[in-house]
Amino acid sequence: MELGESALVLPARGGQTAGGRAQVSSQAPSDSAVPSPQNTASRKAPAAPAAKAGTGAKAAAKLPDLEPGIVAGAPAGGDDLFAADPLRALATLDALVPVIDACRKCQLGHSRLHSVPGEGDPKAGLVVVGEAPGATEDETGRPFVGRAGKLLDDILKAIGFRREDVFICNVLKCRPPENRDPEPLEVAACSPYLHRQLELIAPRVILAMGRPAAHALLGVNLSLGEMRGKLHRYRGIPLIVTYHPAALLRNPHWKRPTWDDIRIARRIYDGDSA
Ligand code: URA
Repeated sequence: MELGESALVLPARGGQTAGGRAQVSSQAPSDSAVPSPQNTASRKAPAAPAAKAGTGAKAAAKLPDLEPGIVAGAPAGGDDLFAADPLRALATLDALVPVIDACRKCQLGHSRLHSVPGEGDPKAGLVVVGEAPGATEDETGRPFVGRAGKLLDDILKAIGFRREDVFICNVLKCRPPENRDPEPLEVAACSPYLHRQLELIAPRVILAMGRPAAHALLGVNLSLGEMRGKLHRYRGIPLIVTYHPAALLRNPHWKRPTWDDIRIARRIYDGDSA
């Protein structure tokens, strides 16, 4: 499938676009439209969704009942292992960049071209977490800029975000050779950077794309099917699990369930009860 403006053909409903006025209905989408948002959400002050205009509409905007998901707690303060974490001393996302770049805690630090720490708004209300950089990301040092990245751009656009409105990063900051799956020791070595990024950004909602991202954040080893459609919490922050864009390129049938997931993420971002 050629990528481009229409790469992500997500269904919208009720004649509205899926864009700047974020689609917040829990109704099943129709088969027709391609999202083409006019407005993009500004980060901490998102455009008010149309459904919030009146009291009745507000009631209608309630989130669908999601099964409670996994609650991944914060490390206890004070005397735990993490209290001595040197990353804690790094007060900004920018300060993490050279530390990530100098990291050789696993073999990937030796084989990659560029580290890929992540990019976007340091105060983003939405953080998107993927698996690991691929070839294009390795060449450029930027996350999600290859084929899967183009699709991610479309996914974000469909719920009213530009790339720069959110923060995009991965569990692994260095490319695994031949894009093989991350190994547990690599995830263990690298995930403190992700945890610190999330701590600094403190988003309203996290979108975990694919199993490895969800596993790293929730500390579980479940199937994507078991994790989707639930409201998880990462250290108190609502977390939604969905398909990885690369999986959608392989299997376009997963675009519809992805659409359901990202609308929920958008609604949580917009302040619907989570
Ligand atoms: N896949 C990912 O998980 N992350 C990227 O940055 C690119 C592709």
